[in-house]
Order: sequence, then C-alpha cells, then structure tokens
Amino acid sequence: MRVHSLENRVVTLFIGLLLSVQLAAFFAIGNAIDRNARQAVEASLKINERVFEKVLDQNAQKFLQSVTVLGREYGFIQAIASKDVATIISTLSNHGDRIGSDLAILAELDGKISLSTNANLQDLRKGSLQQTVSALIATAEKTGSASGSAIVDGRPYQFLVAPVQAPVTIAWIVMGIPMGKNLVNEMRYQPNMQISLLTSDQGANWKTNVSTLSDEYAQKLAKLMPPAGQQVRAMPLQIEEDQYSAHILPLAHNEQYNAIAVLQLSISEAVAPYKELQRNLLILTVLGAIVASIVSVITARRITNPVRQLAETARSLGAGDYTATINVKQKDEIGDLARTFMTMRDGIAQREKEISRLAYWDTLTNLPNRALFTDMLEEAIASARSHEKSCFVLMMDLDRFKHVNDVMGHRFGDILLNQVAIRLSAELGTGGTKPARLGGDEFAILLPNSSKKNALDLANRILRSLEKPISIEDQTVDLGAGIGIAGFPEHASDAQSLLSRVEVAMYAAKLGNSGAVIYSPDIDKSSQQSLSLLSELRAALEHQAFRLYVQPKVGLDHGQVIAVEALVRWIHPERGFIFPDQFIPFAEQTGFIRQLTHWVMNEAARVCHVWQQQGIQLKISVNISTRDLLDQDLPGKFAQILQNHEVEPASFCLEITESAIMDDPVRAFQTLDRLHAMGLELSIDDFGTGYSSLAYLKRLPVHELKIDKSFVLKMETDIDDTKIVKSTIDLGHNMGLRVVAEGVENLEVMQLLKELGCDQAQGYYISKPMPSADLPSWLLKWQEQHTPAG
Ligand code: C2E
Ligand code: CA
Ligand code: CA
Repeated sequence: MRVHSLENRVVTLFIGLLLSVQLAAFFAIGNAIDRNARQAVEASLKINERVFEKVLDQNAQKFLQSVTVLGREYGFIQAIASKDVATIISTLSNHGDRIGSDLAILAELDGKISLSTNANLQDLRKGSLQQTVSALIATAEKTGSASGSAIVDGRPYQFLVAPVQAPVTIAWIVMGIPMGKNLVNEMRYQPNMQISLLTSDQGANWKTNVSTLSDEYAQKLAKLMPPAGQQVRAMPLQIEEDQYSAHILPLAHNEQYNAIAVLQLSISEAVAPYKELQRNLLILTVLGAIVASIVSVITARRITNPVRQLAETARSLGAGDYTATINVKQKDEIGDLARTFMTMRDGIAQREKEISRLAYWDTLTNLPNRALFTDMLEEAIASARSHEKSCFVLMMDLDRFKHVNDVMGHRFGDILLNQVAIRLSAELGTGGTKPARLGGDEFAILLPNSSKKNALDLANRILRSLEKPISIEDQTVDLGAGIGIAGFPEHASDAQSLLSRVEVAMYAAKLGNSGAVIYSPDIDKSSQQSLSLLSELRAALEHQAFRLYVQPKVGLDHGQVIAVEALVRWIHPERGFIFPDQFIPFAEQTGFIRQLTHWVMNEAARVCHVWQQQGIQLKISVNISTRDLLDQDLPGKFAQILQNHEVEPASFCLEITESAIMDDPVRAFQTLDRLHAMGLELSIDDFGTGYSSLAYLKRLPVHELKIDKSFVLKMETDIDDTKIVKSTIDLGHNMGLRVVAEGVENLEVMQLLKELGCDQAQGYYISKPMPSADLPSWLLKWQEQHTPAG
C-alpha cells in the first residue's frame, strides 16, 4: 500500500483526531483529579488544624482541673502558710508526676517564681520562663485560671496556671507539661495525617521534637522548613518521592526559641484512589483508539476500494482490456462515479471497435484488409511453426479491372469488387478461411495448416469460378485473374517475405497469363531482372537513349517513297545497340509501352515537321500496342503532340496488330474510333498471323492492311505464300483498303507484288531502317535512281 494513499490519509486523520480528543480528555481529567485531591487535602488539613487546637485545649482543661484541685488542698495551703518548702516541693512533684508534668512551679502573687521542682531556680527566674509565667498569671487573675504554650529548654510545653486559695489567693501553681508523643497521637484525627512539633533556636535551625513521621523523614522535614522569621502558614512539601501539603501552626515563641506544629497530608495517597480510575480511563482510551482505527480502516476501505477498482479498471482500459467490470452496489457518489465510468468504458470500447473495424476491415467488401490479413498470417505462421505444419497464401489480381473502372465508373467497379468478394467467399465455403482484400483489385486468401496441392486446387477453383461472366445492371463483364501461391515454411519464414514472394508469383501469373503460379526462386530472379530492366528503360527515356529509326515504304505503281514506318532503337550504355524485339514485349507487359509510344509519337511528329520544312511530304506510320489502345487518354495525348509540332493528323498512320484489337475489342473500338475521328489513318499490322474475324475487320475504321513479312519473305519460291499474299491483297481491296507488303528483300518479290496489285512495299530491298536524320539524303539518292528519265 502506498504511504500517501487516500486510505492511509483517512485512517491517519481519524485516529489522529480521536487520539487528540482522548488525550485532551485524559489530561483534563488528570488535572481535575489532582486539583480535587489537593482541595480535599487542604480541607482535611483545615479540619485537622481545628482538631489540633481543640485537643490541645481539652488537654489543658483536663489538667487545669487537677491543678485547681491542688490549689484548694488543705495540706498544701498549710505547707505554703508555714513556708514548709520540702512539703511544697514534694507535693508539687507528686502532683506533677500524676499529670505528666516535669516542671511544677509555685509563684508569688505578683507572678515571681518562688519555688520549682526544677533545681535551677535562679536560672528560671532570669529566663524567658518568668515572662511566660507572669503573662499567664496576669490572665488567670482575670479568668481564675489560664493555660498556654511555651518553650522550655528548647522544647514545647503546655502550661497550666491555677490559684492557691485560702480562701483568698495566696500564691499561684504553674505546671508545665511537655508536648509529647501521646499528645501528638491524640491529635491525629486521620491515620494518614502526619503531625510534627518543631522548635528553632536563634540560628533559625529547625529541630523536630516530636513527630508521627519516621525519624528519617522527621529530620528531613526540619530541613525543609522556612526560616522562623517568615510567617508561612501553608506550603507544599516533597520528602523523598512523597508529595505533601503542609500547614504550619505557631505554638509559642520567646526571645530565643520558636515552636511550631506542622500538619501534613500526603497528596500521593489522596490521589491514589483516582489513579486507579485514571488507569481504567487510559485502558478505555487505548481500546477506543483501537476500535476507532478498525472502524476508520473499514470506512476508508469502503471509500477507497471502489476508487482503487476504478483505477485498476482504468489501467486495464489503458492496456486495451475492456472486459474488466466494477461491482457497483453503492448508491452514493462513489457508486455514481463507478457507473459513469462504466458508461465511459462502454463508449470507449464501442469507439475502439469502430476504429479497429476501420483499421482492420475493408469497408467496401467487409473483408479483412491488408493490416488484418498480415496479423492473421503472422499468427498462422507462428502456429504452423510450433506444430511443424505448413500454411499457404493465395494472392489474386483481377485482369482488366482498372479498365472496367475507367470505362464503367467507380460505382460499377465497387459493385464488381463486391461480387468478386462474394464469389471468393462462396468458393471458400464455410470452412472458416475468409478472403481478404489487400487493396484495389488485389485479394488474398490464407490457408492455415494446408498443403501446396490444396492451395493449387483452390486457386484453380477460384479461376474457374471467375470465368463465369459477372453481370451487373444489365452489363456483362468478363473477368480473369492471376493467382500467386506461396507457403510457409517452403518459400518464406515470415509474413512479410511470404507476402512479397506470393506477390512475385502473382505477377508472374499475370505476365505469363498462366492462371495460378506457385512461387519459385526462378520467378523471383526473372522478376528481379525485369525490375532492373524496367528501371533501365525509365532511365533510357530520361537520358534520351532511344533513337527513332525510319524505314521507307514505296508505292509499287510509280516506285516513289510515299511513307516511312517509325521503329524505335535503344542505345544501351553497356549493351550498345538493342533491337525492339528485346524490350518491346517487356515494355508492353509492364505498361512502360505507354511512355515509349508517347516518346515515339512525339519524335515522329518532330521529324515530320522538320521534313515538311525541307519540302519532304511523307506519311509516318507509328506502331501502337494493346496497352496504348486501353489508354483512354491516348487520343488526347496524340492531339496535343500534333498541335505542339504543328503537324496534320493526316500525316500519320497508326499500325495496330490484330491481337491488340482482339484483347479487348470493345475498348479497342472505342479508342480507334476516336483516333479515326481525329483524322489519323489506321493500319492492321502483321495481318494473317492472328485470328481476326472478318466481322471485326469490317467494323474497324482502318485504311490499310499490312501483310506480315513471314508470307512475303519467301513468296517468290513458296507457292502457298504467294497464294496467301494474293488472296490477302484481294481481300483488302475488296474491303476498300490499301494493301502494304513488308519484308520485301529482293527485286523478284517486289515485281511479283506489283503484278498481284499490291499498293506498297517495305523491306530491306528498298532500305533497312535508318536514323530519321539520314532519311532526307537517302531520299535524294532514291529519287535520283528511280525517277524515270525525261
Ligand atoms: P513490325 O512492326 O512488323 O516492324 C517491321 C519489322 O520488320 C522491323 O523490325 C523491320 O526492321 C523488319 N523488316 C523490315 N523489312 C524487312 C525485311 O526485308 N526483311 C526482314 N527480315 N525484316 C524486315 P524491327 O525494327 O526490329 O521491329 C520489330 C518489331 O518491333 C516491329 O515489328 C514492331 O512490332 C516492334 N516495334 C518497333 N518499333 C516499335 C515502336 O515504336 N512501337 C511499337 N509499339 N512497336 C515497335
Ligand atoms: Ca509495324
Ligand atoms: Ca509488321
């Protein structure tokens, strides 16, 4: 538990408060007890003081009677009258013994001490005793008898005075009784009351005469007494460990001595009964504190537990766990907070679900997207690795999808993708393997715990299912696809490389038009070479490594050059001169051909303009590929080029092979129509090698047929070729087309073609392709040789 936790603070506050209240009460009670005890002690002392005085007085009265009786005794009076000193002394002495007096005196009427049981009579007459006696007799003269205290030989005495009456007073009897242990004990009203009688000499040193205290305590008490001159009446005392409250009563004093009585009561003893009470109170306090601690801990827990639960739930929320619940039974604010928190949690969970749906699911097809597919693949690989199994991935790319999208619009494309997703799901069945859409028209299927054969079977089933045309809104679309297959652990050891391998296989399938292709390192190698070739082609365009060559076409009826065919060449920095056969097919597969065609067209237009300025009027034929025909922007681009170079569309003829048209006739027709409408002429190249249907041919806006060179090359020796060439020429003419023969290598063929009615000839016999810049001078030479003289 943390030191600064809420719980700790609540508990500390609770216990702190309780303890301070308890302690305050404890000390207040302690103080009250002490004060009460002192007050009680004080009261007791006051009572004792009165008892002390009363006992002293009673004592005096009791003895005074006996002294008075002696004063009336006949024998004693006789002895005084006859001045019989011996009898007087012995009578005094006897009587004194009886009442405990050790000093009996006979005084004359004027108070002068005349006889005493004490031997030293002269001393008595001189000392302070005489004054005491005189004073007492003076009192007794008024009241009949008297009593009082005095100090004799440093000890306190009680003195009693009574007259000797015969019947008039003839003398005074004075008896001195030392105040002793008996008297002190009698004065002890309470057993714990300590009474001490002390006297001090002139040096003010106190001395304890009689005491109920032990000798040791009595001596200590004497030392604690204030000097005799100070009239202290009450004081606290501490002897050893014991605390006392003391009252001081003056007994007597003369020039030399002071006598006091000290009454003391132990405060410690007075407090003792309360101490027990206080101990009980302390125990109660401690018990109370313990109970309060427990209660406060429980209360604090009741408050902090839900808060802690909230914090824990928040932590698991942070870690992405939305399942943690809080038990909310409380109806208080904490309960409210918890409930609000749960609502918040649900909201976050909902939103996260939505976010992850957006992040992991393709919204169009409701299939997993690339991110989720990669996760699934990683899991499948991990599981396959731990079970020593294999798993496979199919990756599929639709054919012509971009084209469909371009022509039919994106909405149509979206519906198409959905249909494909449905077909894929249908093909996979309910086995649990779901297709994923990686993006665009690319789909992938994960086959956990599968074999190569299974994967290939599935791929073929999918391809077959896609052969069936898809109809959307009365339109029928023929879809094809290329599927790549790769597996763990055979082809890759992790998800990323497996994905790149399967992609390589897929491209191979598309390039080779071969349906399903299982990855092999060879494809990778060729695809790597292709990749580097593609980048080299791009570099070539950038560094102007392409050259435009031209090959003339001659009109067979008059032998004049009327056109040229533009043919591209590549001057490679390392490999040197490269013929188009080596890179055109690749450029067509990769789509680079579009850029190349653009370059050729632009160059042809430039050259055309240059020639026209030199007075050379030649139609230029440019070769166009399938991919170019699928490019909707092609007509626009060409128009721009022609405009840039200020040349007429009629100066150009576009050569298109049959297969280029047959690949996607609908598209091809559209583009060709637009090109035709612009005023460009069109020619069917390599005629006779494809499978063109005459119906198509009829529909096409073409002007020219080019008989493929394979029929022309050996036609002078091969009778079949001659027949083919002848019937082609007739077919073309019947359809109102101009017919061109290419691959004319000798005069025989040239003449044979002329006889067959062919319109134009092109071939090495006339000229090999040459750099476009060389043409004007070549043309001059040609004209010199072929212009009929005159
Ligand atoms: P193609 O369109 O059939 O071009 C005619 C080819 O026949 C040229 O080969 C030309 O040199 C060759 N040829 C011409 N007369 C004779 C002859 O008497 N005997 C023999 N044996 N051959 C002759 P080239 O220039 O190597 O072009 C090959 C192919 O490359 C072309 O066939 C064409 O399909 C393609 N091509 C060339 N340049 C371009 C271009 O700029 N764009 C496109 N799309 N394709 C091009
Ligand atoms: Ca051609
Ligand atoms: Ca050709």
